[in-house]
Amino acid sequence: MKHDFSLILEKASRAPKSLDEEELAALLACGDGSEEEKALFEAAYKIKVFQVERNISVRGLIEAGNICQKDCYYCGIRKSNSSVERYSLSKEKIVALAKQAKDIGFASIVIQSGEIESGKHTDFIEEVLREIAPLELGVTLSLGEQSCETLRRWREAGAARYLLRIETSNKKLYSKLHPSDHSWERRVEVLKDLGDLGYQVGTGVMIGLPGQTLNDLARDILFFGSCDADMIGMGPWIPHKDAPLKGEFDKFHALKLGLKMIAATRLYLHDINIAASTALEALAANGRALGILAGANVIMPNITDEQYKKAYNLYDGKPGVCESALAARNLLDKKLGEIGEKILYAQRGDSLHYAKKSCCNK
Ligand code: SAM
Ligand code: SF4
Repeated sequence: MKHDFSLILEKASRAPKSLDEEELAALLACGDGSEEEKALFEAAYKIKVFQVERNISVRGLIEAGNICQKDCYYCGIRKSNSSVERYSLSKEKIVALAKQAKDIGFASIVIQSGEIESGKHTDFIEEVLREIAPLELGVTLSLGEQSCETLRRWREAGAARYLLRIETSNKKLYSKLHPSDHSWERRVEVLKDLGDLGYQVGTGVMIGLPGQTLNDLARDILFFGSCDADMIGMGPWIPHKDAPLKGEFDKFHALKLGLKMIAATRLYLHDINIAASTALEALAANGRALGILAGANVIMPNITDEQYKKAYNLYDGKPGVCESALAARNLLDKKLGEIGEKILYAQRGDSLHYAKKSCCNK
């Protein structure tokens, strides 16, 4: 059956979770630069404005280390890439960056790194969290799969949110992107643990992966709903010269598909936080502003020092590696001002979806 595009948009705008897989796939199938695409972005942006007005929440991104025990085939800092200069920030450095974030008006930070599962690492992150707790920042962790006990300790030490992308909801595709000891099921379990522990749960996927279909992406969006995600951080897959995953890649199409995923996700899940990812900015100078106009409401400027940003190289062409935190903030202010949006300084920007859930559970 051929779907009427404008009817799908109307239905999705009236109520969240009202579309099925085929309808979501139909939204994603609109042509790059077409009238339908324009209508898709406008409908999603309208919902974003209804939910949070023309405001953007920011999180200062700290890339705490690029040492990783995993070997994901797409990632530039995977364990087997011997050409990476490995680093790990000290506790003092992470705390100093958190203070700097607060000083420039960011009330939230994200601490991200390669995946390390060890008692020593659990203790280290716990200490970091306890030291930054007095700053009263909204802290997101993105440190990969961890045991329930580790996640519980980090939650108690002050982490409020956790971002763990499922990467793809298609198990078969997942197995082609990872070595056989990387388990899709474990990732789902960890997402469940995060919810049970009271974290604001963030997940997401890579978009435009070799072998991925529009129906896979539509099912990704249904997956976000079924795991009751509070926030989504997703972005286009971008090849890395040293990573084994190779495939067709067209910058313009990758950007467009990334934007369509943001829009379709906003139309399906009205009240969640959706980040306009850095990967969008790697594909176009105004990529994140375009992400906002397609329905995203969160931006995560990188506040890590230049020397480390370069070594945290997930994909080729990472943007902003030579910017200071303040310069990144000022540039963002300018770019967002140009589209009539403003950064919510000194506000954590918690997920509305999470707030509603917590309220209902009281
Ligand atoms: N190690 C943790 C993890 O994997 O959850 C957190 C850091 S990891 C670098 C963050 C995200 O980077 C991954 O979830 C993955 O989606 C993304 N990423 C890695 N390589 C990428 C690539 N080539 N293109 C786009 N995104 C990529
Ligand atoms: Fe490690 Fe994350 Fe990269 Fe996978 S995506 S290799 S877990 S840093």
